[in-house]
Amino acid sequence: MRSTISRRRLLKKAAAVGGAALAAPGAPAAAGLGQASRPAAPGRKFRGWVSRGAGTGRTTLQELTLRPIAGRQVVVRTEATNLCYSNASDVLGLPGMFGGPMAQMPLIQGHGGVGVVEAIGPEVRRVQLGDRVCVSGTPQCGSCYQCLRGRADMCQFLGRQGPKDLVPIADMRDGTPVFANSHIGGLAELMVTFEEWVVPVFTKASAVELGMVCSCVSVAGLGTATSQTLAAVAPGAIAAIVGCGPLGLSAVQGARIAGASKIIAIDPVRARRDVALKVGATHVLDPNVEGDKLVAKVREMSSTPNNRLWSGGRDSGGLLGGSGADFVIEGAGADRAKPKVEAGPDPTGVLPMRQAYEMCAPGGHVITTSLPTGTISLPAVFFAIGGRTHHAGQAGGANPMRDIPRFVAMLDAGQYDAKSLATRVVPLEQMLEAYEEVVYRTTVTAIMTV
Ligand SMILES: [Zn+2]
Ligand SMILES: [Zn+2]
Repeated sequence: MRSTISRRRLLKKAAAVGGAALAAPGAPAAAGLGQASRPAAPGRKFRGWVSRGAGTGRTTLQELTLRPIAGRQVVVRTEATNLCYSNASDVLGLPGMFGGPMAQMPLIQGHGGVGVVEAIGPEVRRVQLGDRVCVSGTPQCGSCYQCLRGRADMCQFLGRQGPKDLVPIADMRDGTPVFANSHIGGLAELMVTFEEWVVPVFTKASAVELGMVCSCVSVAGLGTATSQTLAAVAPGAIAAIVGCGPLGLSAVQGARIAGASKIIAIDPVRARRDVALKVGATHVLDPNVEGDKLVAKVREMSSTPNNRLWSGGRDSGGLLGGSGADFVIEGAGADRAKPKVEAGPDPTGVLPMRQAYEMCAPGGHVITTSLPTGTISLPAVFFAIGGRTHHAGQAGGANPMRDIPRFVAMLDAGQYDAKSLATRVVPLEQMLEAYEEVVYRTTVTAIMTV
């Protein structure tokens, strides 16, 4: 039978943007390109952590009923989800959480996870039933201005997750509709997302290790050091990593995998510096000990072994300084709560970011990834003619469909150590207590398994 898709309908659909476009049920896929869809079991029950309202206690475990899916929606049975630091305020109801209408929407938090595809809408092509997938914090539509220019890390659909963009995916017992944060909602037994957010991964890795390497922070850390988008670390180069949470510790590993000759890891928390040494750092520095001399110290460490200018060497002398790290990856960021371990020198995250810029060598690259607060000021001459190139992007510039399978291959090949980063693993029921450890930095990060 011939398709009855009208050209007008297709054009109208293409013109739509945002959640409406994401949710629009569409025509069946063209013959030969599509696949059999399977709707989720009607009335499928699952448990999910739902956040609503203000203050602590806003997130509670609820029994939910899945709504029917359509179009390019994908239902994923969750295996594991990383408890990302940036989501902590919204889960725990700490100061700094999102206010406005979002706070009142019953929302499943969590912006990533791994699992198995359980149901797909009729338009889905990228994944099949039974596939293991990473639900990526950053989507890749492949069609928007940014995706077409190789900047899938900045895919325009990343910004389409406001109250008007989200669609109800389930209902609570009393009939209240529930939505998924970032079109993902990883803190639940099921994630209901769209095709653009899923990346199939073909691996037998454990749920914990896969959940770790596919987390937003690991993808960002490995992206900064090894993705082609921003400034991949060159073999033999000197790399400095400022901030050694799970993102920075993934960047340390990315620098090692890329073949850096010297990897200087900087973090105030001793336990994190220990993990940095275990996963690839050649040197560690404590910013509280180095104080104002931190930048000079990194420059001095990168003058060796040859500071003879006539012999290809470099030193820290001269107007603009000649030494410094060839690649500086910044992943410090602002504190969401006062740490219960060693606090850094600046809770806003601005000072470590400035130091990251200043410790970079002329001709070097600074890659920033964190979420600081406030305004940064930089030495204007360095900024103008110092030869330091600054790179910024989402997810460390990682292009999900290109890079996430590569990161999983690093795990499978034994190059990426996921276990040393997943220092706390909890079942779904203990999610809140593990998140407290994340926000007070008493663990590197935590993985919730289902
Ligand atoms: Zn995150
Ligand atoms: Zn896009």
